[in-house]
Amino acid sequence: MFNFILFGPPGSGKGTQSVKIAEKYNLVHISTGDIFRKNIREKTPLGLKVQSIIEKGELVSDALLIEILGDALNQHSKARGFVFDGFPRTIQQANDLDTLLSKKNESVSLVLSLEVGDDEILKRLLKRAEIEGRKDDTKEVIENRIQIYNKQTQPLIDFYKNKNKFQALHGIGGIDEIFAGICKIIDKHI
Ligand code: AMP
Repeated sequence: MFNFILFGPPGSGKGTQSVKIAEKYNLVHISTGDIFRKNIREKTPLGLKVQSIIEKGELVSDALLIEILGDALNQHSKARGFVFDGFPRTIQQANDLDTLLSKKNESVSLVLSLEVGDDEILKRLLKRAEIEGRKDDTKEVIENRIQIYNKQTQPLIDFYKNKNKFQALHGIGGIDEIFAGICKIIDKHI
């Protein structure tokens, strides 16, 4: 299996690129943010539980995340591999993912980070707020999400560097240009 993590701050283009990667390499795209938004739209018990957390830009609990991930992996037991988008976001989640994958005799294959600075992110997310009207794209919430990313998610860079699984790519440019850069790196590892 090829288990790929597309890493990067909110607004770095992970969602757009993950869809393209999953399609090209025939992998299953797992976006935890999309799973939550769908549940909120459908007002499921999970949706009701996480709605206010997400609207504040905070992180949903690690315990809930690993439950969701376990379900998603089981639903796609025949997958050729996965593109994880927006997961893991904490060291605990990364350890939990290793445990889940090791039960299938699998592991994380590669982590690729899209590098985009805070100012550019703020600009992009404010623009997305106008277009998509996401409730967690207000200026205050965006700043909170960036802060949480820097504090809780960035430590994952060293976590994966220590495992020799980490690569970074400059995330500013056209969608196709960045996609080509990502594919070049994947092709060396797949
Ligand atoms: P995203 O679309 O990936 O930016 O996710 C939107 C929101 O869903 C985040 O701001 C969090 O509140 C929540 N969320 C998504 N993935 C995770 C995760 N791996 N851990 C904790 N919270 C998450």
